[in-house]
Amino acid sequence: MKQSIYIVGPCSAESREQVLETAQAINTLRSTVSDTLFIFRAGVWKPRTSPSSFQGAGDEALAWLQAVKARYHMPVATEVATPEHVQAALAAGIDYLWIGARTSASPIAVQAIAESIDHCAVRPAAPVNVLIKNPVNTDAALWIGNIERLERTGVPVMAVHRGCNHQPCWQMAHIVRTARPDIPMLLDPSHMSGDAAKVAALMDKITELGLNGAMIEVHCHPEAALSDRKQQVRPETLSNLINLTNLNNQNIELNWLRAEIDELDATLWETIAARMDVSRRIGIWKKANDVQPLQPARYEAILRQRLKWAEEHDLPSTFVQQIFDLIHQESIRQQK
Ligand code: PEP
Ligand code: MN
Repeated sequence: MKQSIYIVGPCSAESREQVLETAQAINTLRSTVSDTLFIFRAGVWKPRTSPSSFQGAGDEALAWLQAVKARYHMPVATEVATPEHVQAALAAGIDYLWIGARTSASPIAVQAIAESIDHCAVRPAAPVNVLIKNPVNTDAALWIGNIERLERTGVPVMAVHRGCNHQPCWQMAHIVRTARPDIPMLLDPSHMSGDAAKVAALMDKITELGLNGAMIEVHCHPEAALSDRKQQVRPETLSNLINLTNLNNQNIELNWLRAEIDELDATLWETIAARMDVSRRIGIWKKANDVQPLQPARYEAILRQRLKWAEEHDLPSTFVQQIFDLIHQESIRQQK
């Protein structure tokens, strides 16, 4: 049975009390779960969208993570976005560094981080591990390139799939998993959903897709969290979440393909719904301007164009015409 990896803890280190209270609850749970490596996480320097939001407690919080490590003998992790963060984190004995989705979108920033790990003046007692999240945009090649940049430093690397815009990106993750089956891939259901209530439903994917574990945001008082308040779960919830996973599964490749199909179908229906919405707005305009809903010349022109696209995508023209006729009929109905 392979060991699963759970990186758990608050989005941000907010105070010594909050960090230690959350760590204590996680440590209690740790003794009840077997075959699992628990790593305590907390962001110290936070890449926030707005400069008015809480930006993290900064260097001071490294001592709170050190206290968790010393008190509970649990490895600790924090996010780094600059070479200065790397130096400070390694000097404080942080065991796992993760690179967030915003930093992962910049190969120059990732290269600078890799070089600073390589040239670090402080040699940590144990080798540091680096986790690289997927970039905020769906770019599998960039994610793979980032893994390679970090590997050149000789550190063990893991990938974390946190999705984009609070949605999973299974297609992108499947490409990376297929290219690099040798490195662990973790799920980050907290940032993937942005909603604590949706975390449980994503946990099944760890088993289905043969992932190696998860990074989950856990806060002792999520309602008072200074960042990502909506998505952090309580320590009591964490044990139920971990019990949902079971790493012995046979149909991993089929499940990856099904995850891709589910994702594409979701996009398909969203696109169709958005198209109907525009159709209804066209209907309002046509009514106001006394124009009939069905305009045969326009219909013929767009059908010709859609059939050309079908050819470019190697799709049979009868199939595309049938689908398009159905969509168009419904559009006209919505305009009446
Ligand atoms: C985080 O883990 O708290 C974080 C900022 O994540 P991401 O880079 O995935 O948004
Ligand atoms: Mn967060």
